[in-house]
Amino acid sequence: MTKIPMQNPVAELDGDEMTRILWRMIKDTLLLPFVALNTEYYDLGLPNRDATGDQVTRDAAEAIRRLHVGVKCATITPNAARVQEYGLRQLWKSPNGTIRAALDGTVFRAPIVTGRITPHVSNWKKPITIARHAYGDVYRATEYRVPGPGTATLSFHGADGTEWAETVYAFEGPGVLQGQYNKDSSIESFARACFAYALATKQDLWFSAKDTISKQYDGAFRDTFQRLFDAEYRAQFEAAGLTYFYTLIDDAVARVMRSEGGFLWACKNYDGDVMSDMISAAFGSLAMMTSVLVSPDGNFEYEAAHGTITRHYYRWRAGEQTSSNPVATIFAWSGALRKRGELDENADLARFADALEAACLDTIDAGTMTSDLARLCACAGVDTQTFLDAVQARLRAALGA
Ligand code: NAP
Ligand code: MG
Repeated sequence: MTKIPMQNPVAELDGDEMTRILWRMIKDTLLLPFVALNTEYYDLGLPNRDATGDQVTRDAAEAIRRLHVGVKCATITPNAARVQEYGLRQLWKSPNGTIRAALDGTVFRAPIVTGRITPHVSNWKKPITIARHAYGDVYRATEYRVPGPGTATLSFHGADGTEWAETVYAFEGPGVLQGQYNKDSSIESFARACFAYALATKQDLWFSAKDTISKQYDGAFRDTFQRLFDAEYRAQFEAAGLTYFYTLIDDAVARVMRSEGGFLWACKNYDGDVMSDMISAAFGSLAMMTSVLVSPDGNFEYEAAHGTITRHYYRWRAGEQTSSNPVATIFAWSGALRKRGELDENADLARFADALEAACLDTIDAGTMTSDLARLCACAGVDTQTFLDAVQARLRAALGA
């Protein structure tokens, strides 16, 4: 078979530990035999981030803006123990945080659903997609450990001379203090990304926050969504037979549990962080959750939602076979290649992405799967390379290769 050509590259962001091993295995088994892979390679493995003073992460974010499509392997976000383990010069920031700040995007996370694995919530028939605002709030907060009695004030000094100040609390003893912010421009692009994604994937959109308690802050999110919906999206939603509504987060959680699934749930940054882990666990496995960062100016970064699977890596390094699930990382590649195909009008590449995903799901449905999934349906699990070889055999058959 002649390999499928690619006119333009995708930004390829390599990562750490077990997922770095999976990255290589996936390329060798499922991509390089079929596609004339065209990538700009950035090594975001922790040793190289340390060696480059984290310049490689900034360069990679810039490459995603320039090429419009990136695919990222999971990376270590260092803590004090990692500084020791890797002999780091500095406690580098989270690469995802750096990339999200550079692209100002929204992260969409959807479980990969197969016939074999039934969700823990028995009435969920279709996947639930989380849209997580990926800018600001507690992730960009200023914090202070209050040492003893004293007064905390929140103040604003406007460039136009506006002055505003209010007492937060008059501390009678030690405590904690935090200041959060967000920007209208980022909230607007979050809302637009959600409306556009709901229309593109033909799903209803729910947005939840806590505006009864946080009247100004969460109220601004609610009002921005409503204003843009009324002005720009209502007619398109009606034409597509879709609905948008806002509800309190507590009400949303209860309704999600009673729903059949099949909708997009937009969440503020922290809510989205927590709820996406709840959704993926309830649908079966953290290893079956896709994640794509969509920026307002049309850039896409695909990754798996899970981390570097450290415990498996230590076993792999000790010479053991591991049964790490590569599916979410494969779907990161298929997502990036499909998007590249769409942007370049390369139908063969988009079809390859569809065939690759179908081969993974058919392999699982036929009973060959890694241990994390096997546990859920009382089957025997296989090691990662055996699973990848089974997917390759199906892919060859589907492509006639
Ligand atoms: P993790 O890598 O997601 O793994 C947690 C556990 O979940 C694993 O030990 C494993 O359970 C199970 N698991 C996750 N993915 C799996 C897969 N593909 N196949 C099979 N089992 C899987 O989370 P972590 O251990 O908390 O974090 C490890 C490192 O990843 C940290 O350094 C963190 O900074 C980083 N991280 C990176 C990202 C990212 O780059 N997007 C996201 C989160 C965390 P068992 O051991 O029970 O089999
Ligand atoms: Mg999380």
